Amino acid sequence: MNKFSLKCFGVGDGWPCADRTHAAFLYRFGKVTFLIDCGEPISCSYKSTGPDYDTIDRIFISHLHSDHIAGFFMLMQGFWLEQRQKDLPIHLPADGIKPLRQMLDAAYLFDELLAFRLLFEPLHAGQPVVTHNVRVTPFHSSHLDSLRASFQKKYPQDFVAYCFLLESDRLRIGHSADIGAPEDLSPLLEKPLDLLVCELAHFKPQDLFRYLKGRDIRRIVFTHVGRRYWDDLEETRLLAAQMLPDIPFSFAHDGEEITL
Ligand SMILES: [Zn+2]
Ligand SMILES: [Zn+2]
Repeated sequence: MNKFSLKCFGVGDGWPCADRTHAAFLYRFGKVTFLIDCGEPISCSYKSTGPDYDTIDRIFISHLHSDHIAGFFMLMQGFWLEQRQKDLPIHLPADGIKPLRQMLDAAYLFDELLAFRLLFEPLHAGQPVVTHNVRVTPFHSSHLDSLRASFQKKYPQDFVAYCFLLESDRLRIGHSADIGAPEDLSPLLEKPLDLLVCELAHFKPQDLFRYLKGRDIRRIVFTHVGRRYWDDLEETRLLAAQMLPDIPFSFAHDGEEITL
């Protein structure tokens, strides 16, 4: 009943990649299931893995970069054709709600066709989303701060990105999504973590490892590893082993399932 698992559907970074697909993570806490991010080809990976189409309780979208959202429309077309029945709340940056709705209409995925209700909910930093005994709290990530500084005048959007803290009765899990600096993880690390799922693309690995050294974290899974660190994975792994001698860690591959 309380069994936890994390299915890493896509562990690639934002670059086109032949051996990894884009960000999508299925978290299961017993009967409560969330999908974090919808990088493509999530519809294909979801179908090939075989969960029922009513399994997912909520979808969280960390931010609107294509490597986190480009699979959303095919996933929704799949939910329509596979006759999902259960309401589906989608939690995302407020900026995305109107354009996503417009694109669903443009793709002929009208509310009237769906056997389930699609509910769009804006994320707010520090405000948890509660499902039975599981809380998901988004926190601000600085991932888009420099883009905001350069472009917000011309493109008046919020430019927000979120990382997430997932808490159940017995587990405390951090999910970085895309962050601008290791310090963005600080609200997730205020108490011990059972698992940290952490990106490794937007800063030097040694900066992250230095920041995490000595923290009370039971296990780290690195994802979204930047191409140059992925191409030299053995070197990256060695550096992690040297700098994080006390924390078990691994580098996730597509399709890997993590249990605790
Ligand atoms: Zn990304
Ligand atoms: Zn991004």
